[in-house]
Amino acid sequence: MALILDGKTVSEKVFACIAEEAKALPVQPCLAVIIVGDDPASQIYVDHKKKNCEQVGFRSLEYALPAETGQAKLLAIIAELNADESVHGILCQSPLPKGFDYDEQAVCRAVSPAKDVDMFHPENVGRLTLGEPRFLPCTPAGVLALLDDAGIDLAGKHVVVVGRSNIVGKPMALLVLQRHATVTICHSRTKDLAEITRQADVLIAAVGRLHLITADMVKQGAVVVDVGMNRLKGRKVRGDVDFDAVAAKASHITPVPGGVGPMTRAMLMQNTLTAAKAAIE
Ligand code: NAP
Repeated sequence: MALILDGKTVSEKVFACIAEEAKALPVQPCLAVIIVGDDPASQIYVDHKKKNCEQVGFRSLEYALPAETGQAKLLAIIAELNADESVHGILCQSPLPKGFDYDEQAVCRAVSPAKDVDMFHPENVGRLTLGEPRFLPCTPAGVLALLDDAGIDLAGKHVVVVGRSNIVGKPMALLVLQRHATVTICHSRTKDLAEITRQADVLIAAVGRLHLITADMVKQGAVVVDVGMNRLKGRKVRGDVDFDAVAAKASHITPVPGGVGPMTRAMLMQNTLTAAKAAIE
């Protein structure tokens, strides 16, 4: 039976370190979160972030805007937050409501790179690619922190990342590459996915398909990280990995919930702390 990579416990350690560091700063780090519309899942994420800010002693600002706010007003709010020296991190919760004039890319570019704690701005993406990141991409960095905590060294390992999104799959591949892993990225056009995933020493699933990864797709003794969050009826969330069957074969596995999710939010707080420190340098 696999060892559980417990994101809840590890994130609590990270939160405690961040709180310690924040206390010693001459300014209170501040994260501004913008949510447009009334998507219930987005509201849950925003509530979690607010709670985490309280936990680490940060100030948090929430801008809950109606769906019909529109691009121009949204950009004006971002510009105000960019100019506000007491705000260190800004994020606009995605997705933006459909059926209006929102341009998600333009919104990402509008956030000042120095406050872009979600790491969507092209400047920050470029810096990450060059190995000179200002911030860390939250979910991939959370995955690495979880592997580090368990003492799993990636050098020379074959890491297979399933998913190639800008927010998870691509930056995940970059980070493990920087840790000297050999990386394969799979996606919806990959032929014979199982043939490739079975070669993974470390398999990272970031797709958003309930139980896509079954036990026959996993090598005996592999480390399996499940980034997927698939909402069942009600508030229940499950991952991309068929947990029970895969746990019988893997050496380590992340649960959903309680795996990568809390680590992602811990890294968001870490980025906000980094931004606050940079602002006072
Ligand atoms: P996304 O933008 O929808 O990307 C999904 C990726 O999966 C795409 O690259 C897609 O390939 C690939 N894919 C789809 N079906 C596939 C299949 N049958 N076989 C192989 N690859 C397939 O999603 P995302 O934003 O990266 O998020 C992925 C999952 O992680 C979601 O469940 C999301 O909720 C979750 N998530 C969790 C956290 C966390 O903190 N735990 C954070 C962010 C996201 P194509 O590129 O070819 O379309």
